[in-house]
Amino acid sequence: MDNERIKILLVDDDEDDYLITRDLLSQSKDRIYDLEWVSTYEEALRSIINGEHDACLFDYRLGEYTGLDLLKEAVSAACKAPIIILTGQGERDIDIEALKAGATDYLDKTEITAQLLERSIRYAIERKRTEDRILRMAYYDTLTKLPNRSLFHDRLSKALAHAERYTGNCALLFLDLDNFKRINDTLEHRIGDLLIRGVADRLNHYVRSADTVARQGSGFITNTVARLGGDEFTILLTEISTIEDVAKVAQRILVILSQPFILDGHEVFASASIGIAIYPYDGEDMNTLIKNADTAMYHAKDFGKNNFQFYKNSMNATALERLTLENSLRKALERREFVLYYQPRVDIATGRIVGMEALIRWNHHQRGLIQPADFIPLAEETGLIIPIGEWVLKAVCKQNKIWQDSADIYTPVILSLNLSGLQFRQDTLMKVIEKVLDSTGLDPSFLELEITESVIMKNADTTVVMLNRLKDMGVLISMDDFGTGYSSFSYLKRFPLDNVKIDRSFIRDINENDEDAAIVKAIIVMAHTLNLRVVAEGVESEQQLELLEEFGCDEYQGYFFSRPLPEADVVHFIRKRSPQSSSTF
Ligand code: C2E
Ligand code: MG
Ligand code: MG
Repeated sequence: MDNERIKILLVDDDEDDYLITRDLLSQSKDRIYDLEWVSTYEEALRSIINGEHDACLFDYRLGEYTGLDLLKEAVSAACKAPIIILTGQGERDIDIEALKAGATDYLDKTEITAQLLERSIRYAIERKRTEDRILRMAYYDTLTKLPNRSLFHDRLSKALAHAERYTGNCALLFLDLDNFKRINDTLEHRIGDLLIRGVADRLNHYVRSADTVARQGSGFITNTVARLGGDEFTILLTEISTIEDVAKVAQRILVILSQPFILDGHEVFASASIGIAIYPYDGEDMNTLIKNADTAMYHAKDFGKNNFQFYKNSMNATALERLTLENSLRKALERREFVLYYQPRVDIATGRIVGMEALIRWNHHQRGLIQPADFIPLAEETGLIIPIGEWVLKAVCKQNKIWQDSADIYTPVILSLNLSGLQFRQDTLMKVIEKVLDSTGLDPSFLELEITESVIMKNADTTVVMLNRLKDMGVLISMDDFGTGYSSFSYLKRFPLDNVKIDRSFIRDINENDEDAAIVKAIIVMAHTLNLRVVAEGVESEQQLELLEEFGCDEYQGYFFSRPLPEADVVHFIRKRSPQSSSTF
């Protein structure tokens, strides 16, 4: 214990008291005290949360607060250090209250001596250590050091209360090793213990790192792995966002456990069966959830072990389908399964095709053509949209150049493509576009990027910078699905846009719904004052087109003129549409 360094936090609004305390502590012969002094309640809270102190001294008088207020706050913030309350004259009667609230000791400042202070601190630290040891024994499993059943129940009930309050979800995974008894019987029990410990370490390590995978935001209860006894573990995942995320975690656990364990020279293979119950669907209270996760675990055993099962069968189907889809989406690029369709965009005044929007489809080797709504969200979640988007960009630029160079189409058109939010926020976007334009030789003024209103409006200030950089390259920019986000006029003015595409939902009932008609009319007027062209999306009838023309809309796109066409049909379609003027597009 000689020359042990002890970190003390002193909260006292009186500098003289700080100087006295510092002086008293410096008299110690065999310890060095690092004294941090803060004088306000707020600073104190910050220090308590950030700091790693061995002990805290709180003065009872802290401006409008008392040391007792701070004590309660510190205890609820799970302050690990023992706390000693310092009282002045006539405040001694708060002693019992302070001890009840969690203080380790209290000292009357008027009677304090160096010896007394030091003894109190030493005693507080020792007592805290003993308490911690007892707590560890009561709440942690000695073999694996994981939380035991008691602590697990405690965490689970807290997580459920939190989920109920914030209408969140959480998942309970019940994990049981497969054939553990055989391992235990054929090798020695000692090896069995080592295996349990090895499994615990892998689970704990993974679940901690998976915190961010399955969790959004900052919940105050983190994911927990516990050992219930024997070869049974539970994993609590808090704040999950989708069933698929839980399936992913379970799948990953199976993979992690499938790596051989080297235990005292023996190579041991292990696997596990996992049952999953989701709050609140599979139970709204702790016992039901535990029971159902356990049942699901037995289903997994019946299913042939080394797999996971949700308590509800429908969830198994959802999770499986999504995992399968994700796996094949990962391979879709190399299998060349993506195709582009092109939908013409028509100038209302002249009736000419002025551009085409490239729309992706996934030609799945087993399931046939899949529409973007059924895989773009998944591609965004998994980040696969980045390579897919790059493929679209290359394909579009290449195709446009081919059409421009071919003898069939004389007037070049603008091809537009949809940029996902993730792509838009990639630092490398500009470089990628520059490279593609360079390698295909396409003039940038024939490439248009469609970015949805909601993506543009998110972090509007950085968006302006990004858009300006894109504009400088000479490409065109279109605000897609306009009307569904919350653009304000003042922002629109700042964005260097070429046109806005009014969302289909406003066009659909434009002839019947006066309100929609009024909105569309207003958007057109507003956009024109900002020198933006207006494109109406999803025009399906002549009546819609007539009204749009009356409102002064510039261009339209929709089934009325043409559905999106496969690449091979584009040239043919255009020739048919303009028989007299094959020289114009
Ligand atoms: P979007 O960019 O708003 O594209 C317009 C959608 O409206 C297309 O659906 C198009 O087929 C559909 N549409 C066009 N005219 C009509 C009409 O008259 N009536 C109706 N009911 N629908 C019409 P699609 O091709 O299913 O694409 C849906 C969305 O998927 C697109 O919406 C776009 O946000 C996204 N998407 C498509 N291709 C890509 C891509 O290559 N990359 C990215 N990131 N997203 C894409
Ligand atoms: Mg679009
Ligand atoms: Mg759109």
